[in-house]
Amino acid sequence: MPLDPQCIFCRIVSGQAVAHKVYRDPLVTAFMDIHPVTKGHLLVVPNSHFPTLASLDPQYAAQMMAAARRLSGALRAAPLSVEGVNLHLADGVAAGQSVFHCHLHVIPRYAGDKFGFQRPIGAPDGDPMEIEQIASMLRPAVADGVA
Ligand SMILES: [Zn+2]
Repeated sequence: MPLDPQCIFCRIVSGQAVAHKVYRDPLVTAFMDIHPVTKGHLLVVPNSHFPTLASLDPQYAAQMMAAARRLSGALRAAPLSVEGVNLHLADGVAAGQSVFHCHLHVIPRYAGDKFGFQRPIGAPDGDPMEIEQIASMLRPAVADGVA
């Protein structure tokens, strides 16, 4: 998939836009997020323009995860006192995606940093019947490779 000259992440990948790059291989590039949620927040992007997770070539998806693994090791080894790492991928507006070039956040965690992935306050416990019903809905699409 070609690069999109209107896309900021494509411009970073091609070198037309400046970024604090920390890793690059034939499939992915990683750089510092300029709006960090915590100190050391990184983004991993494919070196081609895939707007959504569903559009992402599986080879690129695998390499994004491999790069995130390397980056999390580097974060823990750096003198930043990183105590944990979260990976986050926002796919779609409702999920909080704001740049439509699929990207994986690598977010270092520190005790008391107040960032977190939490169930909404008051969210009801899952209904086992409904959970199985949804799983049944998903299985055929997952088996077909649609999802
Ligand atoms: Zn792009």
